[in-house]
Parts: sequence; structure tokens; C-alpha cells
Amino acid sequence: MGTPQSTPFQLLRCTHCGDVIGVYEPLIVRVGDGVRETSRAADPEVPVPAAEHYHRACFTALKHAGKG
Ligand SMILES: [Zn+2]
Repeated sequence: MGTPQSTPFQLLRCTHCGDVIGVYEPLIVRVGDGVRETSRAADPEVPVPAAEHYHRACFTALKHAGKG
């Protein structure tokens, strides 16, 4: 979406619930059918362009709901 990635404290919001995902919280990144678990602190690529970002709990709930 053309957002510069060089801002370290850019807020990242969960696609599911809309709340901010903390820097040290577990984070699910989904790009198409690819899913990986990381955290902002561990992964400088986050936020990943064109990906969906979720709290781990939110993504787990989506999978249990059959939408993931
Ligand atoms: Zn969430």
C-alpha cells in the first residue's frame, strides 16, 4: 500500500479485530495461502506489504470458525 517500512513504531493492526498488535506479541502473517508466525521484534520485514496480520489468538479463532 505504499507505506514506508522504515518507521519502527508504526502501528500494526489485526485484520480480524482491528486492535493494535504489540511489538513483542506473537503475530501471524498471512500472504495468500502462506502463513507464518513471527513477531515484530523478531522480524524486521513486518509489516509485510500486501499481507494480512493477525493476533495469534484471532487467527486461531478464525481457523476454528472454518474461515482460515
Ligand atoms: Zn486481533
